[in-house]
Amino acid sequence: MKRLLTGLQPSGELTIGNYCGGIKQILDYQNDYETILFIPDMHSITVRQENPKLIQERIRKHVALYLACGVDPNKIHLFIQSENLYHANLSWILECHTPYGELTRMTQFKEKSAKQKEVYCGLFTYPVLMAADILLYDAELVPTGIDQQQHVELARNIAERMNNRYKKDLFTIPQCLLPKVGAKIKDLQDPTKKMSKSTDVPMSAIFMLDDPVLVRKKIMSAVTDSDSKVYFDEEKKPGVSNLLTIYSVFAECSINDAVKKFENSNYKELKTTIAELLATKLGEIQEKYQEILNSTLVDEVLDSGREYSNKIAEKKYREIAHLVGFGRY
Ligand code: ATP
Ligand code: MG
Repeated sequence: MKRLLTGLQPSGELTIGNYCGGIKQILDYQNDYETILFIPDMHSITVRQENPKLIQERIRKHVALYLACGVDPNKIHLFIQSENLYHANLSWILECHTPYGELTRMTQFKEKSAKQKEVYCGLFTYPVLMAADILLYDAELVPTGIDQQQHVELARNIAERMNNRYKKDLFTIPQCLLPKVGAKIKDLQDPTKKMSKSTDVPMSAIFMLDDPVLVRKKIMSAVTDSDSKVYFDEEKKPGVSNLLTIYSVFAECSINDAVKKFENSNYKELKTTIAELLATKLGEIQEKYQEILNSTLVDEVLDSGREYSNKIAEKKYREIAHLVGFGRY
């Protein structure tokens, strides 16, 4: 069975963008692949987190939310990155095999560092830690949104470089898996940007745990354009195209079907239908979430994931550490 791995940072509350690029893909693949899902808490401190306790709270909330969305605890392995020390250890080795220039090309670093008062080194080297996350498990497939595609490319380059340098098939070369629809859900207030969980603009993102009343309000106030025709054109009509994309993901239909459904609607009708659909879907997920959050399931899943992931990671790490010359022979 092929192995698939993905992670979503506890850097903020999960958005419907994270659902499309991350959670939905796990739901689509968990039956056919060995699925490893981890919580990259170490990635979340690459930008300043004012309240560390919030990260811990979010870890628990995120796990409960994955399960509420339909992630099957009997099929996947779910663990917290910091509970597996091999990620940071391998990352160090990989950093010593990654040219500085390659990291300076990462667009996410440029975007995120521009927003920081002070930029810390971890934000710069974080794509290497992500490479370690992937390569430790020889994951063949890495489902993500478009924003992470460049980082998976980097992981491929690092793996190829290591394989060539040590003349061995040390690492499996991973492949990025993008969803057919929803690889980049846009910010509702500025549809030229991607929706992000670490946003400062409250109406720009819909969070999976938003109250349905607020969900409706956010959709109704989403920025569109001054035209009045509903059709899909991401260049000319980014706002409307984004709404059609959101509809398509949550109604589980193609973009073409979504366009057909709304071709004679005005913007208000389009928004009202999407708002109702999202409010209902998220409301259902939130009900399950509340039950799971207070059960023992969250810890059970995390304990078993920690054990499983450490076994695989330890073996891989020891092999690489030995090859690069660490320890005694
Ligand atoms: P942050 O702003 O803190 O980076 P984020 O919203 O980008 O948060 P991540 O934890 O970095 O979330 O990413 C988790 C997963 O969600 C990744 O697979 C990423 O590609 C995907 N993702 C993030 N934003 C979107 C989006 N707007 N549309 C589709 N997928 C997304
Ligand atoms: Mg991100």
